[in-house]
Amino acid sequence: MKITVQKFGGSSLQSEERRSHCAEHVAAALRDGFKVVVVVSAMGRAGDYYATDTLLELTGGIQPSISKKEQDLLMSCGENISAVVFSSLLQQKGIRSYAMTGSEAGFRVSEVYGEARILDVKTEQLEAVLESYDAVVVSGFQGETPRGTTATLGRGGSDTSATALGAALNASYVDIFTDVQGIMTADPRIVKNAKPLDVITYSEVSNMAYQGAKVIHPRAVEVAMQAEIPIRIRSSFEDGPGTLITSSTSKVRGIDLDDRPVTAVTHVKDVSQIKVIRPQDDSLVFSLMADQQISVDFLSIHPDFVTFTVPGVLRNKAEVSLQENGFDVTWTDKCAKIAAVGAGMTGVPGIAAKIVKALKRKGIPILQSADSHTTIWVLVHEHQMAEAVNALHDTFLNEELHKKEDE
Ligand code: ADP
Ligand code: MG
Repeated sequence: MKITVQKFGGSSLQSEERRSHCAEHVAAALRDGFKVVVVVSAMGRAGDYYATDTLLELTGGIQPSISKKEQDLLMSCGENISAVVFSSLLQQKGIRSYAMTGSEAGFRVSEVYGEARILDVKTEQLEAVLESYDAVVVSGFQGETPRGTTATLGRGGSDTSATALGAALNASYVDIFTDVQGIMTADPRIVKNAKPLDVITYSEVSNMAYQGAKVIHPRAVEVAMQAEIPIRIRSSFEDGPGTLITSSTSKVRGIDLDDRPVTAVTHVKDVSQIKVIRPQDDSLVFSLMADQQISVDFLSIHPDFVTFTVPGVLRNKAEVSLQENGFDVTWTDKCAKIAAVGAGMTGVPGIAAKIVKALKRKGIPILQSADSHTTIWVLVHEHQMAEAVNALHDTFLNEELHKKEDE
């Protein structure tokens, strides 16, 4: 049995018309001789009837009047509704389709409400269903805990549901259908001339995802990488090859990855930079943050001060806990972290110099920087983020611009 997994995100399932496009992709895979396992997110975005955020609003939104367990039960309804609605559309189109909850499809998850981990996927029942159906539509983002309760996987979790199912079923592909043409050289909402990439490695895309490119969840990439299942990021609305995510760095689809030092530019908004002046004990600074469950980033230790960044929403918590312990703290809110990511930059000199020059030319101050062998990060003020991302994209990835400059 040849199986392919297709995941459709919220915006792809928002309207009847959009769902019809998605159904076309299912039909196309069936014509190619696959059985199709569909994984769905809740339909639409905040404000749409059954979208995750709309459901949360029913019980007080981000300041809920219910427990996390109950919140998960509420949220999981969005995917269940979506699975049944999409399965019924497939049936109307003559496709033998069957809807299943995450639990029915075999997802066993840890009992950590709101951010459960997939422990195992027991696919016997799903495989039995596939014997007599062409397509199975599974609720993403959810699974059953060892106690039999329902827990969700956190934002973007349906991507991981899809790749975990792909791995468990040894699928030929996991296709993540979304509202962009593929993995782009930058977020197209910010960079108008961002281009879709033909091919990218698991590690590059996982790196991009950790650095803010929300097009796919990083854990989803890791799961596929371990099982060596190729992922394709494709547009729900247009035909097109999309972006192939694979392990090979040799020539795939005619592209030598070593030829591109920078693959993409990513950004993360709403970051706060914290500076602790002359700490007696800098290790205490970080153990305090760990105790508060605050993950720190960009940390840099100098003889006279220590700086690091935290997500903007956690700045107050971080500041209070440091001050209570007698530390002298200052901070800068509304920063953005920008990263140039590329497996091909290892050993290539001058990338950092180009970044610094490009930002200087635009008069954008760099508040902090860091690098690894595949990523260079800079911290800038958030109001200059879009300009900075575009400047770096122009420097490394805007081929039209470079052609013009060469002429
Ligand atoms: P879905 O609902 O299908 O899961 P998401 O909103 O989670 O969709 O992911 C798609 C979005 O990711 C795009 O609309 C785009 O704005 C954003 N995005 C950020 N960085 C990138 C990138 N480098 N390439 C493509 N999309 C990106
Ligand atoms: Mg998503």
